[in-house]
Amino acid sequence: MKPASTHTCCLNRAVFSSLDFTDRASFEDAGRGLVGSIPDARIVNDKGAVVWDMSAYAFLEQEEAPDSVNPSLWRHARLNRLHGLFKVTDGMYQVRGFDLANITIIEGDSGIVVIDPLTVTEAARAALALYHEHRGHRPVRAVIYSHSHVDHYGGVEGVITPEQAASGEVLVFAPDGFMAQAISENILAGVPMRRRSLFQFGPTLERGPLGNVDSGLGKVGGRGNVSLIAPNRIIREATERHFIDGIEIVFQLTPETEAPAEMNFFFPRHRVLNLAENGCHTMHNLCPIRGAKTRDSLAWSKYLDEALDAFIEGTDVCIAQHHWPTWGRENVRRFIEEQRDMYRFLHDQTLRLMSHGHTPNEIAELVSMPASLGARWHARPYYGAVAHNVRAIYAHYLGPYDGNPVNLNPLSPQDESRRYIDYMGGADAVLSKARRDFEAGDYRWVAQITHHLVFADPGNVAARELAADTLEQLGYQSESSTWRNAYLLGAKELRVGAPKPPPGAQGGVSPKVVAMLPMPMFFDYLAIRVIGERAQGLSLRIDWLMRGEDGHHRLTLSNGALSHARGSHGARAQATVSMDRRALAAIMSSGRHFSEALAEGLIAVQGDRASVEALFGTLDQFNPMFNILEP
Ligand SMILES: [Zn+2]
Repeated sequence: MKPASTHTCCLNRAVFSSLDFTDRASFEDAGRGLVGSIPDARIVNDKGAVVWDMSAYAFLEQEEAPDSVNPSLWRHARLNRLHGLFKVTDGMYQVRGFDLANITIIEGDSGIVVIDPLTVTEAARAALALYHEHRGHRPVRAVIYSHSHVDHYGGVEGVITPEQAASGEVLVFAPDGFMAQAISENILAGVPMRRRSLFQFGPTLERGPLGNVDSGLGKVGGRGNVSLIAPNRIIREATERHFIDGIEIVFQLTPETEAPAEMNFFFPRHRVLNLAENGCHTMHNLCPIRGAKTRDSLAWSKYLDEALDAFIEGTDVCIAQHHWPTWGRENVRRFIEEQRDMYRFLHDQTLRLMSHGHTPNEIAELVSMPASLGARWHARPYYGAVAHNVRAIYAHYLGPYDGNPVNLNPLSPQDESRRYIDYMGGADAVLSKARRDFEAGDYRWVAQITHHLVFADPGNVAARELAADTLEQLGYQSESSTWRNAYLLGAKELRVGAPKPPPGAQGGVSPKVVAMLPMPMFFDYLAIRVIGERAQGLSLRIDWLMRGEDGHHRLTLSNGALSHARGSHGARAQATVSMDRRALAAIMSSGRHFSEALAEGLIAVQGDRASVEALFGTLDQFNPMFNILEP
C-alpha cells in the first residue's frame, strides 16, 4: 500500500471545501437515544473466535480525514462506527453497529417483535442480549423480515428456533416472494456473486486509512453462522394492517425496489415510519457491483412517494434497517422527498439521454446530481455511485448491448488487449507513456491502458505494479465505499494474485439454505453445472426421488441441456435416483462432486447406474476465487 499522491491529496481537499462539514445533524441523530453498548461491540462465538469487533475501526476516532480517504466517505465511516442499543421512541429500540444492518425491536403486550435479525446468529444473539440487559427479558413473539437480503435474515436462529416458527409459537412475517428471492440470490449466480462481493465489501482488505474504512451501509458483515427460517405469514396485499402482540403495523409492499421482495412499515401508535432499505442515508445501488438483477428506479421512487402520501401526517420519526433515524415530521418529509427525487432524477435523466442516442459510458459522464441534492449528506454516493447507477438504468431498459454494431462481436478481452498493445508499438512503449500519465494524475485512463497491458501479458510485472498503483489512487479518491473497496482489492490482487480457495471449497452453499431449497431450483442449479460440450452426445431420462418429500421429478438430458419437470418418466426412465435432504445439504455445502457422493453411497440408484454416472460425469466444478484482474 502506497500513500496518497499529490493529485489525490488535492482532489480530496477540494471535496472537503465543497461540502458543509460544519453540519453536525447526522452525528446528533446517530447518537441520539443511546442506552448502552458492549466494549467495541466485540462479539465472539462459542469457540472464542471473533465474529465482529469495532476496535478494528478505532482509527476513525480522528475527525480529520487522512489524505488517503475521501473526506465525505471518512465522515460517513465515522457515523457508521457508532454502536449500541438506541431508543427510537417509547417501546421501540434499535441495535446498530453490531453487524452491517440494524435490528429493530418493538415492545408488545406480552413480548417483543424483532425486525431483521442481522446477518449472523452470533450478532443477533448479542444484540438481543444487550436489549435484555437494559430492558429486561421479554420473549420474542414475532420476527419480521423487511426484505430478501441476507443481512436482514441470516441471524434469525440467534433470536428464535426453527421449532418455534414451525409450531406457530412465533409468527414470522415476510413480503410476498421472500423465500424464492432469498434463496435464488445464493444459488444460480451464487459463485460469481460471492467472489464479486469481496470487491464490494472488502472483507479481505486491512482495516485502516489505506484499506477498508466502511462499506456504505455499515462496516463489513459479521463472520459467523448464517441461518434461514421460512416465514409462516406472508404479506401479499399492497398494504395490510396487522396487530402483532398488540402492536399496530401497516405494511406497504415495495416489490422490485432495493430488493425484489421488500416492504416498508408504518407504526401509527408509535408515529414511526420504517423504510426498510428503501430510504437510507446514502444514494443506494440500482445494481450493486457484486452483480444482481437491475433494480427498478422508477418503482423505487414511486413507492417512496406513496409512503410519503400515506404516512407522513402520522410520522414523527423515520427509521430504516441501516443507518440512523431522522426525527421531526418536516425533516422526515424533506428526507423522503429528496430520496424520491434522487431515484426519479437518475431514472428520468438516463432515459432522456438514452433518447438522444447516448450510450452508458456517455451518460455516466453527462449526469451529475442537482446542486440541491448534491449538498445533502443522505444523497451522497456512499454505497451506490451515479456513474454505476445510470449504467444500471440503461441495462434495465435496453440490456447490456449499447446499440452500436461494432460491439456486436468484439474479440475476447485477452485477444483485444494483445492487439491494442501491438498496434501501439509494444508493451515498453505503452508502459512509458502510461507512467508519464500516471505522474500527471490521469488515473482513469492509466487504469484502462494498464488493464490492456496486464491482459496482453499477465507476467508483465512492471505493468501490474503500475496498474495497482493507479487503482489504489482511484480508491483513495472514491467517495463510494464500494468503489474504494473494489479499487483497493483490485490493487492488492494485481500485486499478490487472487487468493487461493479454501481446501475443498467449490463455492459451497450454506446447509441452512439447502435445507429449504425448492427442488426445481436445485435442478436449475444442477443444470447450470452441465458442461455442454461433454453432454451433447448424451440422451438421458432419469427420475429423481427425494425421500420424505412428496413426488418424483424427471430429468431429461438432451442436446447438452438438462430440463426437469414434476412427475415420472414411467417405463421410459433409465434410472431412479433417490436421496434425502441431509445428504443433499452435505454435498452442496461441502462443494463435493455428485460423482463422489454416488460412489460414497449418499445417493442411491435403481436401474441403469451407468446413466446416472454419465449425468454426474458432465457436471463442472468451479474455482470460487476465479481471476478478475487478469485473464
Ligand atoms: Zn441491507
